[in-house]
Amino acid sequence: MSVKESSKGCTEKQSEPIITSVASDVQSKCLLLIFSTCILIVPASILQQLKAINGFDEAAFLAAHNVKPAISVRKHPVKGHDLFAGYNSVPWCMGGVYLPERPVFTLDPAFHSGAYYVQEASSMFLHHIFTQATASRKGLRVLDLCAAPGGKSTLIASELDADSLLISNEVIRTRASILEENITRWGYMNTWVTGNDPRDFGKLEGYFDVIIVDAPCSGSGLWRKDAKAINEWSEGNVQLCAARQQRILADVWPALKTDGILIYATCSFSPQEDEEILDWLGETFAVTGIPATPAKDWQIVETTSENNKLPGYRFFPDKVAGEGFFIAAVRKNDPTETIKAPRFKPEQNRKISDQAGDLIDSGDLTYMNGKDGNYNIISAGMEADAHILQKAVYIRKMGLEAGMPAGKDWIPAHDIALSVHLNKNTPSFEVNKEQALRFLKREDMAIPALEKGWHVVKYNGQGLGWVKGLGNRINNYLPKHWRIRMDIE
Ligand code: SAM
Repeated sequence: MSVKESSKGCTEKQSEPIITSVASDVQSKCLLLIFSTCILIVPASILQQLKAINGFDEAAFLAAHNVKPAISVRKHPVKGHDLFAGYNSVPWCMGGVYLPERPVFTLDPAFHSGAYYVQEASSMFLHHIFTQATASRKGLRVLDLCAAPGGKSTLIASELDADSLLISNEVIRTRASILEENITRWGYMNTWVTGNDPRDFGKLEGYFDVIIVDAPCSGSGLWRKDAKAINEWSEGNVQLCAARQQRILADVWPALKTDGILIYATCSFSPQEDEEILDWLGETFAVTGIPATPAKDWQIVETTSENNKLPGYRFFPDKVAGEGFFIAAVRKNDPTETIKAPRFKPEQNRKISDQAGDLIDSGDLTYMNGKDGNYNIISAGMEADAHILQKAVYIRKMGLEAGMPAGKDWIPAHDIALSVHLNKNTPSFEVNKEQALRFLKREDMAIPALEKGWHVVKYNGQGLGWVKGLGNRINNYLPKHWRIRMDIE
C-alpha cells in the first residue's frame, strides 16, 4: 500500500476567509477576491468551461464568492434528534440543518458525544441519491472508498439497517485516524474502518452492493471555505486529478456486484472531473445512469454527460445554500462473479463474553480478538464478512471495540460508551456543560463521590466516555488522544 498523492480539496475545512472587499472584472473573466491575508483570482479558464453548463450564471456565480459560506450540521438520528429545533432544514437530507453562525464546536460537549456532524450542506445530497437508488434495501454491503474525515460515512451509517455493513476506507494513514475517531463517535457496530489503497479492494470481486467514491479532486467547489486552494489550482492539476479519479474507479470496479450502484462525487466545478468522468465510465464499463429527481425549488442543476448521456447533479453556490459539489449514480451491468467466504470455524469466546457482561443491547454477537489484548464485538451474522475482508484488506476497526479482561474485572473500551448500542442499564450519570468539558479535558469534574465501579459520563443523555469510581476518587478513562486542548474558560 503506497499512496503519496495529496488529498486536495477533500477536507471539511474549518477556517473561513473573511472577504473584506471584492472587485470583479467579469469582462476579463477574472475575479479578485481580497481576503484577509491574500488576493485571489478565480481562473478565467474555469469560467469559460462552466459557460457550457446548462443553467450556469456567471455573474451570480462570481457574486456568490463574495458571500460567506453557510454553516450546516447533520444531526445523529438517535443521539441528536432533539437538537437545533426551529432551525432551517437542509431540504435534501434528513437531519440536516443550517446554523445562523458558527459556534466553537470544540467547546460543545454534544459535538463530542456524536450528537451531530459538521457537514457542508451540498454534500448531504448523498442522502437523497442513496435512499432513492437503494430504495432503502436491507442487508447491503456498502463501501465508502475515500472516506476521511467521515461526512459521507456517518450519513450512510445512519441510513443502514442492522444487517447491512458499511466499510469506511481511507488510504492516507493520518486521515484514517481522524476517520476512525469520527466513526467511533457516531457509534454503530456495523461501520468498520479499513486503511487501503483502492486497488486492494479489487480482490473482493462482486462483494459490494454500493460503492461510494467521493474522489480526491482539484477542490474548486470549496474556494469560499478554503482561500488557499485557489492558489494551488491549475489546469494541469485538474488533468492529474481526472487521471487519478479514473485510476481509482478502475481499481475498485471489480469489487462492485452486477446490478450494484456506484455513487461518484467531487467538490470540483471542472467538467473533466465530473461529466467527463461519467463519459469515461460509460465508455470503459457497462453502466446505466440512475436519475435522482431533485425537487425543482432546490435549484440543483441537472446535467448529462456529453456522449453517454449519464445524469449528474451540480451544486452552484449562487443557487443553493451550500458549496460547489457534483454527484452522480450509475448501475453496473458488467457480469461479475461474487466472492465466497472461506471455510472458517466460528469464534467461540464464551468465557470472554461472560466476563465482559452485557455491554451492549444488540442481537447475536461474536467476540473477535482485536488489537493489544482487546476484543471486538461484531454481529454474529458478519463473521463471514470478517473472514472475506481480512484476506484482502487491513481492517483498522472491526465492529465495536469491547475492551479487555483485567483479572476478574473488565476494562470497557471507549467505543462502548459512545455507541448507540450501549446497554441501557449501564451505570451512568449526567453532567452539566462545565463538568462535561472538564471530563473532556481529563480534569477534575468536581462531582460528589461515586459508587465503586464503571460509569458512563453523559451529557444531554449521550455518552462521552468512562470513569471508574474507586471510593475515595474517580479515574477518568477518556483516551489521551481524545482530550480537548482548548481553554474552556
Ligand atoms: N468522503 C469524505 C467525507 O465526506 O468526509 C471526504 C473525502 S475527500 C473528498 C477524498 C479523500 O480521498 C481524502 O480523504 C483523501 O485522503 C483520499 N485520497 C487521496 N488520494 C487517494 C487515492 N489515491 N485513492 C483513494 N483515496 C485517496
